[in-house]
Amino acid sequence: MISYGRQKIGRDDIKAVSEVLESDWLTTGPKVDEFEAVICRYVGAEHGVAVSNGTAALHAAMFALGIGPGDEVIVPAITFVATANSVVFCGGHPVFADVERGSLLVDPSSVESKITRKTRAIIAVDYAGQPCNYDRLQPIARKHGLKLVTDGCHALGAEYKGRRVGSIADLTAFSFHPVKHITTGEGGMITTDDGILAAKMRMFRNHGIATDFRQREKKGSWSYEMTELGYNYRITDFQCALGISQMKKQDKWLRRRRVIAARYDREFRDVPGISPLTKRRGSRHAYHLYVVKIEGGDTSGETRAELFAGYRSRGIGVNVHYIPVHLHPFYKRTFGTAEGDCPVAEAEYKKIISLPLHQGMSDADVREVICATKEMLRGQDAVQTQD
Ligand SMILES: *Cc1c(COP(=O)(O)O)cnc(C)c1O
Repeated sequence: MISYGRQKIGRDDIKAVSEVLESDWLTTGPKVDEFEAVICRYVGAEHGVAVSNGTAALHAAMFALGIGPGDEVIVPAITFVATANSVVFCGGHPVFADVERGSLLVDPSSVESKITRKTRAIIAVDYAGQPCNYDRLQPIARKHGLKLVTDGCHALGAEYKGRRVGSIADLTAFSFHPVKHITTGEGGMITTDDGILAAKMRMFRNHGIATDFRQREKKGSWSYEMTELGYNYRITDFQCALGISQMKKQDKWLRRRRVIAARYDREFRDVPGISPLTKRRGSRHAYHLYVVKIEGGDTSGETRAELFAGYRSRGIGVNVHYIPVHLHPFYKRTFGTAEGDCPVAEAEYKKIISLPLHQGMSDADVREVICATKEMLRGQDAVQTQD
């Protein structure tokens, strides 16, 4: 099976993890600080707060902004459920904005139309690895006094007008789940230039306690104060050692993702019935996902379902990212969301498929995906690809 995304672990990674396992600190030790510094340097942010997963990173971001009951946060309809859930964890109300038809990135006009007196923040999702339209989102946030958060879980290494994702919004959340650009097994991080928000999130990941064990050890003190209700969202030192080791390969891997995506673009250009998502000018895509739309004439999603089954039967692990969040039973039941709330997201959702794209794919894997696609869409027996 060629999976849609998967980790790549080398001897160097294993060695890095083993070394930490034999050291004094398994958690909350020096590798956490080091990993934070590596990511900060890479994205161009002042502060990084490493946590146990990307969902915890989003939760910490909502906590730092003081989101609570009565507050609304605007999130795009097309994203992983965790984006919206993070608002709910804090007692807030996620309000779903529609997406742009071509890119499936959040539509700034829809965002603006959903702002009310209760709105406190916007979460922009750099879907598939492509930065949102920040030139329009930032003035909207500023004009209405809202914080801008990026869910950058797809977008490590993506650039918007020369700036890396992680240094654009007030807060950016990353995930290091195995399908993402680099992995720590489970892991996440929030980057920001705001030292006060960073301090709040450091407390939040450690039960709401101001000092951690290592700081108290240094001072020879047992005393601590819990000032906020926090969680245990810590990440281990061996996970961070894996992250540091993986980051050494990030540039090379990102190049590989872009090469594969360019190859898909080229090969599918003249194939009827399939079209890649549109790319915005002025950005550099990080290609966490390679999403295509199946334009088959019907609006029921049947063509997509057939193609999906066809890929799977050929051992090609395609996937669908994502079911519009407002259509999940929890959101319908809890917030009264319904079909029709975000018409573009609902219509486009029925057409999308994510093709395999990751650093571990061989040229033969890529060729297999291309051939299967052409075969199914053109119904040809023998398909030539341009090698
Ligand atoms: C992966 C992902 C998350 C959650 O990250 P975890 O590390 O799995 O908790 C959140 N948002 C988006 C868009 C993601 O892709």
